Amino acid sequence: MIKVFNSLTRQKEEIAEPKAGRFGFYVCGPTVYGPSHLGHAFTYINFDFIRRFLEQNGFKIRYVMNITDIHDDIIKTAMNEKIEPRLLAKKYTDELMTDFKTLKIKPADFYPRVSRHIPEIIKLIKILIEKGYAYETDDGVYFRVERFKDYGKLSHRQLDQAQTGTRVRTDKYDKEEAYDFALWKKEPNKKNSFVFKSPWGWGRPGWHIECSAMSAKYLKLPIDIHAGGQDLIFPHHENELAQSEAGFGRKFVSVYLHAGLLEISSQKMSKSLGNFVNIRDFLKKYPARFLRFFVLSHHYQGVVDFSEKNLAEAWQNYLKINEIAAKLNLLKNNDLAAAGFNLKPIEKRIKQALNDNFNTPLALAEIYEVFNWIDQGFKLKKISRIEANKLIAFFKKLDRYWLIFQPWRKPSLAAKRMMKEREKLRVRKKYEEADAIRQRLSDFNLVLSDSEIGSVVSNLN
Ligand SMILES: [Zn+2]
Repeated sequence: MIKVFNSLTRQKEEIAEPKAGRFGFYVCGPTVYGPSHLGHAFTYINFDFIRRFLEQNGFKIRYVMNITDIHDDIIKTAMNEKIEPRLLAKKYTDELMTDFKTLKIKPADFYPRVSRHIPEIIKLIKILIEKGYAYETDDGVYFRVERFKDYGKLSHRQLDQAQTGTRVRTDKYDKEEAYDFALWKKEPNKKNSFVFKSPWGWGRPGWHIECSAMSAKYLKLPIDIHAGGQDLIFPHHENELAQSEAGFGRKFVSVYLHAGLLEISSQKMSKSLGNFVNIRDFLKKYPARFLRFFVLSHHYQGVVDFSEKNLAEAWQNYLKINEIAAKLNLLKNNDLAAAGFNLKPIEKRIKQALNDNFNTPLALAEIYEVFNWIDQGFKLKKISRIEANKLIAFFKKLDRYWLIFQPWRKPSLAAKRMMKEREKLRVRKKYEEADAIRQRLSDFNLVLSDSEIGSVVSNLN
């Protein structure tokens, strides 16, 4: 039985696969007005892992991630860059999809975009107005927070606390209460901005309403899992919940999962602090699989600190385990004695760790145990051919959802030629030239090391 921490109840709960139909998994996607950064990598790698793990356990998942392609930040950035907001959003959506592919994040079944769901959004706002949960003013349509009695049940805030958390601009907005939030923003001067036609004139949807309208279009309510970064609990998820339950008249979400916080050298990552790291810049230094490894070495609900020190340590560990795993390939045809590994208890403990709210650090500690065995096996010259094959099969199985270990991957023909060339140079004692080849291989994420049983290549791509 898989247990998860539900932010709504603040408890670990068992999740059961529904008997019929698909298991709905909705992740709040990014606002596309800039390159994707490590915060995105942390959130989306974690939920990719959780999705893949659930799928390994027989869940038939329908995975939906929205793309916020209409937002004030997009309009502001587009104005600064003198580009059409639509084109700016498209550019960064395309980049995001490429980055997801690089990070080996399994594509969602649907990536609904706000700009293509205006009719669904308008329909929901109309229902909210009819039911008395929303009202029109001179500058927009607002959600009447006080009318929704359960407001605050996700973020566990009272209304007066909520008020201090929102940006109160009563001088600009003509709303009943400061904590009421916009469902529709009127923009009568349609020539100047990214606007859509509605029963309330030209304008744009507010941020939160998109997820209510789009998640209900692609998934059955209540949605089995609704996920996002911790910073979305309030106001985004609280407001989504209020709009959805008020509008659809039923429970919106069964389980809320929230990913933890990301830091750079113990500081919050933010543009204003100048410590903002884009995924593409990070990947100039490290391979994508290492980014997955680093993220999954931390619990998804915890804090992950991308400090130089932590990264350097993790990188050394990562090189070590990959080298050990790559050596297994050399053992496929050996005649060494058996060490007597038993993988069954380890497999069981990995499953237990992950079944308990996806405890990836604990599961990795168990996996390290296997690497230690292999390392010892090499030292004592005790790993039989059958054991080597079993170990490779063990990693192959794990890699269906970790996408970190892949000792069975062979270097390309070009790389093999380079390795042969290096061997020849070494025989002729031309060590400097041989080393230059090793360096060139590492630029392609192929790490060459000389072990007691010959040269091995870890393919980190
Ligand atoms: Zn959302």
